[in-house]
Amino acid sequence: MNRIPVWLTDEKAYDTIEPLIDRDSSFSLEFLAAEARAITLRRFGRTISLYAPLYLSNFCSNGCVYCGFASDRNTPRRRLEFREVERELEMLKNMGIKDVLLLTGERNSNADFDYLRRCVDIAADIMPKVSIEAFPMSTNEYRKLVDCGCTGLTIYQETYDPEQYRLLHRWGPKQHFSERLETPERALQAGIKTVGVGVLLGLSEPVEEALKLFSHVRYLGKNYWKAGLSVSFPRIRPQTGGFQPAFPVNDHFLARMIFAFRIALPDVELVLSTRESPSFRDGMTGLGITRMSVASRTTVGGYIENAGDQNGQFEVFDGRTIEEFCEALRNKNIEPVFKNWEPVYNGPNTELNPTR
Ligand code: SF4
Repeated sequence: MNRIPVWLTDEKAYDTIEPLIDRDSSFSLEFLAAEARAITLRRFGRTISLYAPLYLSNFCSNGCVYCGFASDRNTPRRRLEFREVERELEMLKNMGIKDVLLLTGERNSNADFDYLRRCVDIAADIMPKVSIEAFPMSTNEYRKLVDCGCTGLTIYQETYDPEQYRLLHRWGPKQHFSERLETPERALQAGIKTVGVGVLLGLSEPVEEALKLFSHVRYLGKNYWKAGLSVSFPRIRPQTGGFQPAFPVNDHFLARMIFAFRIALPDVELVLSTRESPSFRDGMTGLGITRMSVASRTTVGGYIENAGDQNGQFEVFDGRTIEEFCEALRNKNIEPVFKNWEPVYNGPNTELNPTR
């Protein structure tokens, strides 16, 4: 049974975010944008941190209805061999990327824990900052990845609505709502330094999703106060399978959500990926967003092969090169930041949660 814990419906958290995000909010979008701009400038300056995703494997046993890599999709399957991982990373490094997010599907015989660990090992030799977005793991497994140089985890709950979650995750280990919900804590207990959470906007009623996402971040912030937290705002993009969201989110609501999160969570990184259009991304820089992906490929081997995204996890919207994107940032007087992390800081921090 997929139950939601008490902390996910924290009334105090709701009281903070609901007046800002509610569709009947008395705060205008312009007012929220001005507040978000002032806070962003004060806490983060005129900067945007940049990273790139690297898809290691698209083998997957899950049936996530919204994903181009779900196991029933008729899409070519492959994983990068270790030499290929190295080549993709070298290519990203030559493009200027210093912060990489390694992605896989569900744990399977083609891409299991040992495979991922070796890939982290390779990446940590090439990149100053290595994060993962992969299958949920045990605390012990996260600890081993920390020892290899992994400092960040991205794991979206996708939807905080247990009933929608059940319907959308048709089969596979990802059906376990609670196990996924507890994953950020296992990673933080293992010494992962930054955790990114989010919902896939479009899967369920967006105001409800925003309230629960905010509660989740508040809970993590209170219990793991040394952790670096980030929030992403992915919207569903066209993908193999042709899933259409039942709760589409328009630009207006997404902007309101970003501003509200910036106001209510002044120190948390807010992330916007290349799923969004160039104009929306440009519009959000300086208004809350502090971290962005750039020049993304959603296919396995996509950088070396310069592949389009027709066999990718989803269609990228902002296809600008790094140079083009950085120029757009600088035109807005915002400095792109490729590296703000020294590998010397990597390694386990076993005191992340002093309450335990
Ligand atoms: S979202 Fe992830 S777990 Fe789900 S089908 Fe796609 S690759 Fe697999």
